[in-house]
Amino acid sequence: MSEIDLASATAADGVSPLLPLLAPSRRGKPPQHWADLTPEARKEAVVAAGLPAFRAKQLSKHWFERLTDDPDEWTDLPAAQREALHAQLFPPLLTSVREQTADKGTTVKTLWRLFDGALVESVLMRYPGRVTMCVSSQAGCGMNCPFCATGQGGLQRSMSAAEIVSQVVDGARRLARGEIAGGTGRVSNIVFMGMGEPLHNYNAVVAAVRTLNAPEPDGLGISARGITVSTVGLVPRMHQLATEGVPVTLALSLHAPDDELRDEIVPINQRYKVAEVLDAAWEYARVTKRRVSIEYALIRQINDQAWRADLLAKELKKRGDWGWVHVNLIPLNPTPGSKWTASDPADEREFVRRLEAHGVPVTVRDTRGREIDGACGQLAATER
Ligand code: SAH
Repeated sequence: MSEIDLASATAADGVSPLLPLLAPSRRGKPPQHWADLTPEARKEAVVAAGLPAFRAKQLSKHWFERLTDDPDEWTDLPAAQREALHAQLFPPLLTSVREQTADKGTTVKTLWRLFDGALVESVLMRYPGRVTMCVSSQAGCGMNCPFCATGQGGLQRSMSAAEIVSQVVDGARRLARGEIAGGTGRVSNIVFMGMGEPLHNYNAVVAAVRTLNAPEPDGLGISARGITVSTVGLVPRMHQLATEGVPVTLALSLHAPDDELRDEIVPINQRYKVAEVLDAAWEYARVTKRRVSIEYALIRQINDQAWRADLLAKELKKRGDWGWVHVNLIPLNPTPGSKWTASDPADEREFVRRLEAHGVPVTVRDTRGREIDGACGQLAATER
């Protein structure tokens, strides 16, 4: 019997726990989950489960708006079916393995185990007036940047949209319940700066972005400008992202303005050169009207020379003087086994001064979570 036959055969009985609604055992892939589906596909899923389509909105309301994961609280749904619906449409995806906090409980790093044992991390950072969540999009990373802890372990696998969204739903739930220092709150910003290269997992990341951005109850209602996708510079995917109609903020991890050095510290540069990635970043700003962020980790005596600041300013300005770009300098965070360290404060100041002198907007990132290895480039997801 095909899935379709099975669905129609059991429709009258309500939800059958045997119904392979969401193909739970695709090899090597996490079980499908409500948060993987578009609002349309959610309706189809409840109809396939023998319920009227309007139940989909109710389920979404519980999941994304009330943030309840306990089917006993889904009191507007038929009592006899709540458990089965929960089991079939909301399989557990993330298991918390360890949690570390810093900054008096306002920075929380969570280590998650996925269904297949893969480990990923996410970080919640609460500031006055906003909460930013840094999420992972892959277990490990295949980009192999030598200064980043994640890159050292290679890529295990890409995450599903629901695995990505679930990191945020968990943070949102804990904030709503007042479990994070500072009282109840909401997630206002999301940065794809955890483990992985988001544009190397393009479809799942875009699906996750759509769900994070969708107004309640279809999603979490987080504004596109509050969502930042950070990339090493996969040029074709940068162009594609510009056309998705979800104008997220794009961050480009540049780290060097010249190919000679960037070939070494961001190896994908051997494929997509500085000129190409900057053109793609400029194009993204032009199409989306969103200022692009250039990420630049300052590494002592590697990329922090004053002439590189001048060259960076020149490369940015030659593409347009209309405020399309902003430079975010990140003092290098230490990673195990790396010989590199953060710049001298004097060199950092000079780097900033040069950029400012050229009229390039620049900030130095306030780094959170360094002492819990939760800062940029420190997420390695080991259990010890
Ligand atoms: N793969 C994506 C997103 C993850 S990294 C990307 O590279 O953009 C998020 C940011 O942290 C990137 O800008 C990355 O270059 C930076 N980063 C990596 N290792 C770092 C380190 N040791 N210190 C400071 N920043 C680092």
